Amino acid sequence: MKKTIKDYDLSGKKVIIRCDFNVPIENGSIKDESRLKASLKTIRYARKNNAKVILMSHLGRVKTEEDKQKYTLKPVAERLSVLLRKKVTFVNQTRGKELEEAISKMKNKDVLLIENTRFEDLDGKKESNNDKDLGKYWASLGDIFINDAFGTIHRSHASNLGIASNLPNGLGFLTKDEIKKLTKLTDKPKKPYTIILGGAKVSDKIGVISNLINRADYILIGGGMAFTFLKAAGFNIGSSICEKEKISYCREILDKYPDKLILPIDIITATEMKENVKTHERFINEIEEDEMGLDIGPKTLEVFKQYLDDCKTIFWNGPVGCFEIQEFENGTKKLLDIITNTKAYTVVGGGDTARAAVTFNYQDKISHVSTGGGASLAFLEGTKLPALNIIDEK
Ligand code: ADP
Ligand code: MG
Repeated sequence: MKKTIKDYDLSGKKVIIRCDFNVPIENGSIKDESRLKASLKTIRYARKNNAKVILMSHLGRVKTEEDKQKYTLKPVAERLSVLLRKKVTFVNQTRGKELEEAISKMKNKDVLLIENTRFEDLDGKKESNNDKDLGKYWASLGDIFINDAFGTIHRSHASNLGIASNLPNGLGFLTKDEIKKLTKLTDKPKKPYTIILGGAKVSDKIGVISNLINRADYILIGGGMAFTFLKAAGFNIGSSICEKEKISYCREILDKYPDKLILPIDIITATEMKENVKTHERFINEIEEDEMGLDIGPKTLEVFKQYLDDCKTIFWNGPVGCFEIQEFENGTKKLLDIITNTKAYTVVGGGDTARAAVTFNYQDKISHVSTGGGASLAFLEGTKLPALNIIDEK
């Protein structure tokens, strides 16, 4: 078991907490503060236990000097001050005398936020390439390192792997909770276990398919990726999205798992992917040459429902249609309704799928909506996660 923040005596210690404050900001105002709220538990715990709390995070991608204005963490410090009801001192530097002096002045329970770690990327990508000296320097600013940034757990950056390599460390509550909830999908999941996969591309999901296909009873395939499978199964898919170089992979796993992989039987098509376009409901052997499939049809929903109704575990990644456009939202919306009316343990992961769950207001009815996006997929793919592996064992 990995150590957590609870395994340390924090009193009087400088505790560096790596958070995920990568929030959408427009003209200095935060558009979605759910990531800030998700970080409060760990910060509050550290304060309650008399730590000097030093917060770090990345924000966006910093490639030019101008990006610095767009991606400063200053608005985050201001909003956090309100959420914590405690002034968060913001230092607009990622290193140097001003930062070190501000830290040396900290009292117990004080909170300080360091500027966006990716400002260091302007100088040879030091943060993103885990520059050894940068990790060591940041570690020198604290006594204990807590990783609560689940969203970057699959990355090897100076601000996670680098600091953890140089300090006693542990997980924060958010990261610990994500791992616990996602582990229920990989370690002896309750059966029957059905996975729904969608999204644009097969190639994005091959790792998840390979790692979960033997654990799950069924994989229901929708979204753009269904068409590469349908093509592999011999159907004419018109002008639907298709990855030619993945057809042979799809054919292979369809042959190997003929009863496990469930493909759509009807499709909503249109000649263009846009609002107010004329749509058609087609069986999969009726798709016309100039049409593309943009959502799963009502008969497919009935079939999928049969595979979901009695499940004990359901994992879903990838919208089954172009849910951003009203004409093609029905499949994704109805499936959210179906899974939330089962008794199953339900997990939704992936940036766009989580967004769909929130857009259609199902987030509170799902057992777990992962905050992680790419990180949750990497976790389920079973790929090595260096920023997690480095965390000390109990
Ligand atoms: P996630 O971020 O949850 O992992 P993806 O990024 O893999 O999901 O896929 C999401 C995108 O897939 C959405 O933007 C959606 O519009 C698109 N998509 C879904 N169905 C289709 C389709 N039939 N054709 C083209 N794109 C699709
Ligand atoms: Mg996506």
